[in-house]
Amino acid sequence: MQAVSAEIIDGKAIAAKVRAEVAGDVEAFVQRTGRRPGLATILVGDDPASAIYVGGKQKASREVGIEPFDHRLPADATTEQVEALIAQLNADDTVSGILCQLPVPEPLDGVAITGLIDARKDVDGLTPVSAGLLALGRTGLRPATPSGVMVLLEEAGVELEGTRAVVIGRSNLFGKPMAQLLLGANATVTIAHSRTRDLPAVCREADVLIAAVGRDRMVKADWVKPGATVIDVGINRSDDGLHGDVDFAEVADVASAITPVPGGVGPMTIAMLLRNTLTAAELVASEQEVGAA
Ligand code: NAP
Repeated sequence: MQAVSAEIIDGKAIAAKVRAEVAGDVEAFVQRTGRRPGLATILVGDDPASAIYVGGKQKASREVGIEPFDHRLPADATTEQVEALIAQLNADDTVSGILCQLPVPEPLDGVAITGLIDARKDVDGLTPVSAGLLALGRTGLRPATPSGVMVLLEEAGVELEGTRAVVIGRSNLFGKPMAQLLLGANATVTIAHSRTRDLPAVCREADVLIAAVGRDRMVKADWVKPGATVIDVGINRSDDGLHGDVDFAEVADVASAITPVPGGVGPMTIAMLLRNTLTAAELVASEQEVGAA
């Protein structure tokens, strides 16, 4: 292992801690309400990578005491079939959270399908209602990966208030909600993308630099302000293994803290999905308690 000057933010260990906390909180919830939170996953088609992701989410749910419900539809399922399944799960009290694994096969419209999920069960935080609540700073379910990054920053002791943060990438899945969460924590946020002029100079402004692009080791040492915190969301598979969007070997000598790939942001996503499922169950339970009072 090469010597690096930056603190390595250990996402695997932090995710394990979150999962253990969720497991304890799930049992306390069951004791209090007599109900077990449930997570329904929907997989349309037989894409092997998607099947592995869904299987991982099912297993992780079971491990923390959340009941997994595994729903599969054939690749040629119609929009009406998917709609009917989501309507059934929206109405099912044993289901606290619903996620539809993306992408869905064409001609299905993943954004439209996701939008059918009841916002109170939207554990991926991707419906227009959840996105709107986040933009307004109101209580709601937040997308798992950017939420996981917020936990990593907190665990690494990064003070966000007043800091300059740059997010590379503006996807609905990650970049936009990440920027909103940082803004909510009083950072001054820049969102960079493929049309940004002089990206390295923009990145050098950042005290906190977050890369979510999907380009193997794009962020180089001379893009990074000395002492910055660097969070690498990218997952790029190549012949020589799995790499992030950040050239870890170079950047770890400039940054003060950095996430590795693998073992950084990746493990946080499932941990935060589990946390969201419990939060969804708690929101419904508190509504019922208020209704019954
Ligand atoms: P995406 O939807 O493809 O978005 C990529 C973003 O990067 C776009 O906003 C794009 O800009 C921007 N971009 C592309 N080339 C660029 C360049 N040369 N310079 C600057 N910006 C550029 O991807 P995503 O879903 O956000 O995911 C991004 C990466 O994170 C992927 O590697 C993905 O696998 C990974 N990811 C990991 C997790 C996890 O759990 N660890 C979760 C989600 C995503 P335009 O908008 O201008 O096209």
